Amino acid sequence: MRPVPSPARPRSVTILGATGSIGGSTLAVLAEHPDRFRVEAVTAATNGRKLAEIARATGARFAAVSDPSAYGQLREALAGSGIEAAAGEGAIVEAAARDADFVMAGIVGAAGLAPALAAVRRGAILGLANKECLVCAGDLFMHEVATHGAALLPVDSEHNAIFQAMAASRRDEVETLILTASGGPFRTRTQAEMEVATVADAVRHPNWSMGTKISVDSASMMNKGLEIIEAHHLFAMPEDRIEVLVHPQSVIHSLVTFRDGSTLAQLGAPDMRIPISYSLGWPARLPITAPRLDLAARGRLDFEPPDPVRFPALRLARHALRQGGAAPTLLNAANEVAVAAFIAGRIGFLDIARCVELVLERSAGGPVGSIDDVIAHDRAARDAATQAIVRLEAGRPSLSRHEATA
Ligand code: NAD
Ligand code: MG
Repeated sequence: MRPVPSPARPRSVTILGATGSIGGSTLAVLAEHPDRFRVEAVTAATNGRKLAEIARATGARFAAVSDPSAYGQLREALAGSGIEAAAGEGAIVEAAARDADFVMAGIVGAAGLAPALAAVRRGAILGLANKECLVCAGDLFMHEVATHGAALLPVDSEHNAIFQAMAASRRDEVETLILTASGGPFRTRTQAEMEVATVADAVRHPNWSMGTKISVDSASMMNKGLEIIEAHHLFAMPEDRIEVLVHPQSVIHSLVTFRDGSTLAQLGAPDMRIPISYSLGWPARLPITAPRLDLAARGRLDFEPPDPVRFPALRLARHALRQGGAAPTLLNAANEVAVAAFIAGRIGFLDIARCVELVLERSAGGPVGSIDDVIAHDRAARDAATQAIVRLEAGRPSLSRHEATA
């Protein structure tokens, strides 16, 4: 069962994805409260040296890299520290399964599913940044959370805002959830400009500093599509009661409208330390030094509807959610592969959504009854996406993107 939060002893924390953007913001919040927290385990994909630095600085007991070839570097960098080093996908799951009160799920992509489940299955408090977990296995994940009495705290800023706005109300009093979206770096770009956009253009987010994959997802608005699916699972809301509102300043993090016509929102500076500290301190609020909102200095907040033509990812995600079964798993896996191909310079920016659409059109889908089913659908969609990318590459003009944009 979930450990009873006790202010008398430090809360033990494991950070999955400690070397990433969410990991870094989590470490920054912990550093403000050395007496309230103790770090149990930290993990990363390949950067053994950086992970070892983090493990030493936080006094972690266990550090694991998913890439076995990074093990030597990690072990060497931890020599003499007394910190246990491990490697491989199983070691990441082991980190999550270790006895810590709180686990930050800060891995990017479906790779974070198995470790997040390991934390859920021992009834931990889970701070969930890794939205792909819920997109690819939402029903099963929520079932495991309920079965094991885990506490699932949304860290994604929009869902954290909704969680906060709903805190004093009953679920059946909620009419609609309104997810705000910055609109990303291409909010005002034409389709022709987006067609030739480079990776550097796509990751230049106006308000947030984040990992590469989520930055590209924000540019395509697939991030908001994934967040619709995430909200559906977290708050048991049907797809047609989850709206998207473009709000370029990212000050209002999301809103909830209730059946009496009241709308509640959570506002704050666009700084992930705020939702992260909410989850780390829950049910108490931690004092932290993140910037305070100065609305008078801001002067104005703007809003507009999303453009379904330039941002087809929103339609694709809604379609997958309505279809149910394996469709969201396919959507997520195809998107992960397509984003990686875009980052590698193999396909153009708008090809990301084309690839996802091709996979959704051509894949069998079907029911999802177990995590093994999820893994099988995820693999099949990755194969289908890889094939779609070869076709998209063949259809591209022979000019390289750099030449095309020069
Ligand atoms: P990031 O790329 O900066 O960091 C990802 C972390 O996961 C790194 O520590 C990396 O080493 C690790 N990792 C990557 N692949 C792995 C694998 N196969 N196995 C084990 N570890 C692996 O990403 P991020 O921006 O911190 O995002 C993490 C998650 O949080 C994503 O799901 C993202 O959508 C979500 N999120 C991020 C932000 C943000 O501000 N960065 C906001 C909301 C939600
Ligand atoms: Mg978000």
